[in-house]
Amino acid sequence: MRYVSTRGGADAKRFTEILLEGLAADGGLYVPEAFPRADLAAWRGLSYPDLAFAILSQFMDDVPGLAILVKKTYTKEIFGSADITPLRTLEPGLHILGLSNGPTLAFKDVAMQLLGNLFQFVLQKESRTLNILGATSGDTGSAAEHAMRGKKNVNVFMLSPHGRMSAFQRAQMFSLQDPNIHNLAVQGVFDDCQDLVKAVNADAAFKAKYRIGAVNSINWARVAAQVVYYFKGYFSVTKSSQDAVAFAVPSGNFGNIYAGYVARSMGLPVRQLILASNENDVLDEFFKTGKYRIRQAAVATSSPSMDISKASNFERYVFDLLERDSARVKRYFTSPDGFDLSLVPRPGFVSGRSTHADRLATIRSIHSKYGVTIDPHTADGVKVGLELREPGVPLICLETALPAKFSETIREALGREPERPAGLANLEDLPQRFEVIAPDAAAVKRYIAAHAS
Ligand SMILES: *Cc1c(COP(=O)(O)O)cnc(C)c1O
Repeated sequence: MRYVSTRGGADAKRFTEILLEGLAADGGLYVPEAFPRADLAAWRGLSYPDLAFAILSQFMDDVPGLAILVKKTYTKEIFGSADITPLRTLEPGLHILGLSNGPTLAFKDVAMQLLGNLFQFVLQKESRTLNILGATSGDTGSAAEHAMRGKKNVNVFMLSPHGRMSAFQRAQMFSLQDPNIHNLAVQGVFDDCQDLVKAVNADAAFKAKYRIGAVNSINWARVAAQVVYYFKGYFSVTKSSQDAVAFAVPSGNFGNIYAGYVARSMGLPVRQLILASNENDVLDEFFKTGKYRIRQAAVATSSPSMDISKASNFERYVFDLLERDSARVKRYFTSPDGFDLSLVPRPGFVSGRSTHADRLATIRSIHSKYGVTIDPHTADGVKVGLELREPGVPLICLETALPAKFSETIREALGREPERPAGLANLEDLPQRFEVIAPDAAAVKRYIAAHAS
């Protein structure tokens, strides 16, 4: 399999060549030259790791030990059950696909855990090291740290806004004592953290000298790993491969739902991909009107992991919508105001928007009808999914985090604390390890220079 840039100005590459890269050299994103075809008959009935290998071996065909890495990643020990992504049926035709049973209780673990093993494998083989620099407002940073902790040849430097994450999120990251994990609490807000990452990466000499890398959601390995659970969910609710389903997906960076689009492009019978935005509704507006209008800044909401003003994976989907016309993609994605595709059909996608009040109402109604507590992001997906579903088509709502991560909103909705998975009861009491740092790129560089390997 070879990968090409959405902007047409970079050479086609193999998977292991793009694994450690973020953007292509021309500023575009890598996508497969062509999507592989699904073999639904052969894949139905496979265990999660076998299904993952069947799918991922097509995207990652130059990783010799892939079968071993996949088996080592998708285990009951790491994800809580042999199903990895267990399905719960609320009532006939309405299901929740549990993607959040990994170490940090959010769906990002499914891809990030594999990424940790892939990184270690490729870096060791090439006798290279990598210093990952990232910014997080909560979920991504902790998923990355829990995936990379203790890995050889990798260090993580994670910037987070000092004093602004929830106590739970802070404890999840700062309690890690592994020497290759570095938490830098920046005296500023999340945007300051992101600006610092950009500033460090803009120094090409520093970036090369310290082999600075990223694990952001545009990484193709993360997209590919997410494709697997769409198949798993489909097989869990259908008897025959003639049946179609719908998926409801709460969306921010368009990473998770883009993986659903890839699954459908491979031949998975997905009748609707139902995209749910929160108050940051740039994607909902696009699917309703065809107009993509980048906002200046995201507003803070109670589904914070979707508080994004510019959806980074979206360019991959638009590349296909424009029949892979990379000149147009480049023009559109370098225009500061966005673009208008109202005349281009967008089959298979529908979208809606969910607000704080909707989130609370949905958490309450799912709890009172079915006795199940869902987190605020999952609630956005359920709310929009129920509104837009077609009769007779099974609806699978993706559970993107466990409620324990967002106790404040659960308390507001239900008047009580969410349950915590076993072993995390005293998370906030564990000793924490982090460094407070000024919002100053020179200070970040000094810290990396002193601790990189
Ligand atoms: C990251 C995240 C999302 C958004 O996923 P995208 O792939 O960025 O669209 C939704 N919910 C939770 C809990 C998340 O952590």
